[in-house]
Amino acid sequence: MNAKSDLSPIKQIPIIEVAKRLGIEVRGTKAMCFMGHDKASPSLSFSINYNTWRCFGACGKHGDAINLVMEKEGLDFNAALEWFSNNFNADVKRQFSGQRKRTCSIKQNNAMVAPVQKQSEFFSDSELYTWFVNKCAFVSNPVGVNYLESHGISDVAASRFNLRQMSSPARAFRMLLQQWGEDRVFRSGIAWGRDGKPISLIWGSYALLFPFYDEVKITYIQARMFEKEPKAKFLNLRGITKPLFNADRLKSLPAGQTVHLCEGVPDVVSLESKGLIALGVLGATSFRTEWVDRFLKFKVVVLGDGDEGGAKFAKDISKYFIDRGKPVQCMTLPKGKDVSDVLAQDGSAK
Ligand SMILES: [Zn+2]
Repeated sequence: MNAKSDLSPIKQIPIIEVAKRLGIEVRGTKAMCFMGHDKASPSLSFSINYNTWRCFGACGKHGDAINLVMEKEGLDFNAALEWFSNNFNADVKRQFSGQRKRTCSIKQNNAMVAPVQKQSEFFSDSELYTWFVNKCAFVSNPVGVNYLESHGISDVAASRFNLRQMSSPARAFRMLLQQWGEDRVFRSGIAWGRDGKPISLIWGSYALLFPFYDEVKITYIQARMFEKEPKAKFLNLRGITKPLFNADRLKSLPAGQTVHLCEGVPDVVSLESKGLIALGVLGATSFRTEWVDRFLKFKVVVLGDGDEGGAKFAKDISKYFIDRGKPVQCMTLPKGKDVSDVLAQDGSAK
């Protein structure tokens, strides 16, 4: 009940501020859609008057600030609220103490209901993901091979992490539909579409696939894309909560070991190629406070890329640990370099 009145501070944050904090590059009231389907012109539009957003492109998504965070970060409703308290702490607090009136309880009530429906729309379909990834070929296309080489990813690591390539989106999409049917393909978040009907695979061109494992099951897939036009290099599944990459690594690891926490997936595979222990987080905002528990008995090194985003990543992730009284070492790589750059240089120097 209290949660109802607590939503209004979030709803008063300007939608464009929320979008910017999510890393969406807003020009005026427009942006390239965060789902990655825009090629030339931006189809994401923000309404300052209504404080809402809508995509007029392939995904057709729309909603308020909370929906935006849920969609962009793949969070559920409660995790999205947590995101707001982490990212707009001051604003929320000020509003909490200032206005406690419940003048528009009906509106807020709707807002509570809508995300629940959204949440059940997509689900992590490990049966489908596992089947699909294992149908895809090992990385043999020069584009993919070069990428792995330049990121210091050895053949051994590529096969250990079961990295695959997807070369023909249309064929892959047909295969998926045939095996699993429209409803499951849509709800697995692997396809564009509307109202439960899948239209095409989210990956519209050659893609390098990084499967996320929980034991032998694949619970998530992130893809590295190579086309020049769409801005998104990495594409995530639609509406699926982003898990930790290489999370299984901690299960049999003796206490006291050093664990590197990286932003993104390729850095993890690079570090593991060099015999280090690494896990990946798909953006600081996807980190869940409860994950801290898994790291308590290890030495944790948070690695940020050498840019503004990387420094913020390292700072934000460290905060989760420090808040729990767990000290972490924070490292930022040289400016403009990521782990793979440093390792690739290191490798070629030898
Ligand atoms: Zn869109």
